[in-house]
Amino acid sequence: MNNFSSTATAARERSLRDIELHGEGDTLREECGVFGIYGHPDAAAITALGLHALQHRGQEAAGIVSFDGHRFHSERRLGLVGDTFSRASVIEGLPGENAVGHVRYSTTGETILRNVQPLFAELNAGGFAIAHNGNLTNGLTLRRELVRQGAMMQSTTDTEVVLHLVAHSKRNRFIERYIEALRAIEGAYALVSLTNKKLIGARDPLGIRPLVLGELDGCPILASETCALDIIGAKYVRDIEPGEVIVFDEKGTEIHKPFPPQPPRPCIFEYIYFARPDSIVGGRSVYEVRKGFGAQLARESHVDVDVVVPVPDSGVPAAIGYSQASGVPFELGIIRNHYVGRTFIQPTQTVRELGVRMKHAPNRAAIEGKRIILIDDSLVRGTTSKKIVRMMRDAGAKEVHFRLASPPIIHPDYYGIDLPDRGGLLAATHSLEEMRDIIGADSLAFLSIDGMYRAVGEPGRDPANPKFSDHCFTGDYPTHLTDQTQVEQPQHQLSLLAEAS
Ligand code: AMP
Repeated sequence: MNNFSSTATAARERSLRDIELHGEGDTLREECGVFGIYGHPDAAAITALGLHALQHRGQEAAGIVSFDGHRFHSERRLGLVGDTFSRASVIEGLPGENAVGHVRYSTTGETILRNVQPLFAELNAGGFAIAHNGNLTNGLTLRRELVRQGAMMQSTTDTEVVLHLVAHSKRNRFIERYIEALRAIEGAYALVSLTNKKLIGARDPLGIRPLVLGELDGCPILASETCALDIIGAKYVRDIEPGEVIVFDEKGTEIHKPFPPQPPRPCIFEYIYFARPDSIVGGRSVYEVRKGFGAQLARESHVDVDVVVPVPDSGVPAAIGYSQASGVPFELGIIRNHYVGRTFIQPTQTVRELGVRMKHAPNRAAIEGKRIILIDDSLVRGTTSKKIVRMMRDAGAKEVHFRLASPPIIHPDYYGIDLPDRGGLLAATHSLEEMRDIIGADSLAFLSIDGMYRAVGEPGRDPANPKFSDHCFTGDYPTHLTDQTQVEQPQHQLSLLAEAS
C-alpha cells in the first residue's frame, strides 16, 4: 500500500470512527448539569428552578422526568430551561414528588431530541430515568459490545450505555444492578437517576465531575453545583464523595462505596471556566479561586499598564484579582451583550466569529488612549482574543496586553468539557510568540501550572500526586481512555471498518 492510499484509508477509518464516537449529526461529548429531588410536592417546579440555575452548564436542551407514585412523566425539549419549563401547563404535566432533570450542551452537529436527557426506559424492575454530566471513556466500546449482544440503542449518547448495562444485569436488587453497571464504565460521571422507588446519585471514583447534596423542607436534593441549591433556598449538606453511590427511598438513605478508595482528581476546569462563580465546588468558592488565578497571574507576568480590563463575563473574577494584586485600576472596557448565547454555541467558525462580535462591544470611555491589560479565563481556539484585541485597538487603546488566567490548553478533554481536538487548540500547535502574533497583542502570557495550583491552596503541582484532573494542560489523563486509545491502534480501526461496512 502506498502512502497516499494508506492515508486515505486511515482518514476513512477515522471518519467512520468519528461517526461512532460522535454519532451522526450529534456528539457524545457534552457539557451538562444534573438535578434531582426526592419527596417534595413541588418536585418538577423545583427541578425547573434548579436547572435554570445550572443553565450555564448546558444551553441547548433541557428535560425533566417525574414520578407520581404510579407513572413516570417526561418533558424533554431543545432550547433553554425557561423556554419550556416556565409554563405552568408543562410543570402540571410533571406531577409527583420525585423528579430528575438535565441541561445539555452539545457543540458539534445538531442536537437531536432523542439525545435530550433524562433518558428513560422501562426495565423489568420498572421505569428508570437517568441524567448524566460527564463523559465515559469506554462508552463506545461498551456500546459496540451491547449492540453486538442485541441491544437497540435509541440515542447516540454514552449515557444510554448505563441504562442498558443496568437492564442486562442479572443481579437481584436494583442497586446491585446499578453498581454493576458503574463498575463497567470508566471516565467521568455525575449521575442522577430515578426509579419508581428511589432517587440515586453517583459520582465517578475520581470525582472528576461535581455533585452536591442539599436539603429542602427535609427532602434530599442532588445537583451539579451549589448555585442550584441557592436558587430554591435549599441547604447545602455536603459534596457527594468520589466513588459514592447514594440512594434515597421511603426507608431513608443508603450509601454505597463500591470502588477501592483512591486520591480524588476533580477537574480543575470547573474552577477555570465551567462552574458558576457563586458556586462552592469541592469546598472552595469558585469566585475566590478565580480571583486567586488573577492575583497569581499578576505576580507572574505583570507589565506596566493603566487599566485592567476583563473579557466579560468569564474573565471578570480573575481581572478583579489581578487588579487587586497589582494595584492597577479595574475598568469595564468591554461591555457584554447578554442576549446572545456563549460563543461556542455557534456551530461553524465563521458564525462563531460573528458571535464574538455580537457578544462584546468596546467601551471607549474606559480604554481610549490607555495601555490596557486584558484578562480572560482561557484561550481555546484564539477566536475571542483575536477579535477583542482588534476591537480594543480600533477603540483607541494605546497598548493591548493579553493575560490568560489558566495555563495553555494543549490537550483535548474526554470528560465532558467541550474542547476541540488538538488541532483546534491554538496553544497545542503554536509557540507563545506565534500566538501573540496571531492574537495581535503587545504581550501575551498564561498562568503557570504551579501558579494555578497555588491559587487553589496547593504548594504547586506534585507530579506524583496531582490533586486535580488537569489533563488539558498536562496530558495526564487520570482514567483509562479505552475508546480514545483504540483510535491509535490500526488493528482496531480495521475491525471497525469491517463492522461498519
Ligand atoms: P477561544 O475564543 O476559542 O480562544 O475560546 C476562549 C473563550 O471561550 C474564553 O473566553 C472562554 O471563556 C471560553 N471557553 C473556554 N472553554 C470553553 C468551553 N469548554 N466551552 C465554551 N466556552 C469556553
